[in-house]
Amino acid sequence: MFRSKNSSIGDVIISKGVEAEAEKPSSSKDSDLRTKKRTKSIHPPIESHFLLPQPKEKNPSSGVKAMLSYPLKIRDSLKRRGRSQSLKLVLEGIPAQNDKQIVDSFRELLFLEGQLPPKHNDYHTLLRFLRMRDFDLSKSKEMFLNYLKWREDFRVDAISEEFNFEEYDAAKKHYPHGYHGVDKHGRPVYIERIGMVVVDQNGLLEVTTIERFIKHHVAEQEKTLNFRYPACSIAAKSHIASTTSIIDVKGVGISNFSKNARYLFMEIQRIDSNYYPETLHRMFIINAGSGFMMVWKVLKVLIDARTLAKIRVLGYNYLPNLLEVIDPSNLPTFFGGNCTCSDYGGCLLSDKGPWNDPEIIELLQAVSAEELYNGGEYGGMASEDALDIIPKRDTDGEHSEHTDKLALHQIQVLEAALKDTKTKIQALEAALEEAKMVLKGLGQPGIAQQNL
Ligand SMILES: [Zn+2]
Repeated sequence: MFRSKNSSIGDVIISKGVEAEAEKPSSSKDSDLRTKKRTKSIHPPIESHFLLPQPKEKNPSSGVKAMLSYPLKIRDSLKRRGRSQSLKLVLEGIPAQNDKQIVDSFRELLFLEGQLPPKHNDYHTLLRFLRMRDFDLSKSKEMFLNYLKWREDFRVDAISEEFNFEEYDAAKKHYPHGYHGVDKHGRPVYIERIGMVVVDQNGLLEVTTIERFIKHHVAEQEKTLNFRYPACSIAAKSHIASTTSIIDVKGVGISNFSKNARYLFMEIQRIDSNYYPETLHRMFIINAGSGFMMVWKVLKVLIDARTLAKIRVLGYNYLPNLLEVIDPSNLPTFFGGNCTCSDYGGCLLSDKGPWNDPEIIELLQAVSAEELYNGGEYGGMASEDALDIIPKRDTDGEHSEHTDKLALHQIQVLEAALKDTKTKIQALEAALEEAKMVLKGLGQPGIAQQNL
């Protein structure tokens, strides 16, 4: 009787009961979710929900409050881009109502269990974990908690700030990979030429270690989430939160996979699927010959169904498929496009993309500073994330003032949430008392025990 979604206490979540609640859905909404789970539907990439209408070019004066605090130069830059109103929307996306409801439930569940550090209370992060687990709150929670623990154990924040992969160029020779431009929708394009990877014998391990290469991979993932996606969102004028990948497997066969190579690939795959879920929009595996197809038979068993549905395996005539989604100017000549990035020593070394556009970087810095003052999305609890968008600068004096304001704001938010929780607990206690009275009145303590 306390689980009706319509009653005022229906959403009360007390830590002990949470898992049962999640596992035994009773409302129609939950049934829907269960159906989704059963049918293993593959959800479209997150950003497709958040496409924005084209900004109104002739309405530059209706800027959001945030605009007022931007330096004049940046406001000018926004005007030039015709985006006075929608920058915040572009960066944060417009939550779909259904998604928002379940993210709020997920938030509440994590928060009441003390498992939601403010830094990770980010709408899109939580949504990614929910989607990866077909909106099953209990499974999403488990995945999210594993993610938080891994971030601690692997010291992910420290890697982002301190790790310097000075063997970058040398490592890329033995493991050609990199971000290169955007697809037609504005998503970053990531390229790996796995067939050219040499791990042992005069290869990658001559210039780095597996441990360091994996740290480099994690640092790149963090940069993509915190910097490349926001930059792409601004450039594309719509919320971008996933990547289009091209994996060139020319020359790959069973014999390529030494023990070290297998370990490296599997470890990267494990990290990506467990800790960076739902960031892949689509993957093209190209130049798949008979050698690769033998490997693929084994690999595809190990890849989860959701990811598998996003992968397209193409033979040697892959170019028309790539050109459908990527403009030739963003495709290297070695794949049949027009780009050489000759000034940077080649396309895989250039890291070309909107994330290198000085105007966009300036905008992101402005947004980051503004979020810090005003509290970001959802009461400011996610605003620390905004700090990570921009590479850390030495701004000691200012920083402590910002941090104080942020801390104060977060305390206020937490106090409000606690008050809310207390009210709900009181309501629940009152309802319990009432129920006991009713059952007592019936004179059937047996039933009372059973139901409570
Ligand atoms: Zn290039």
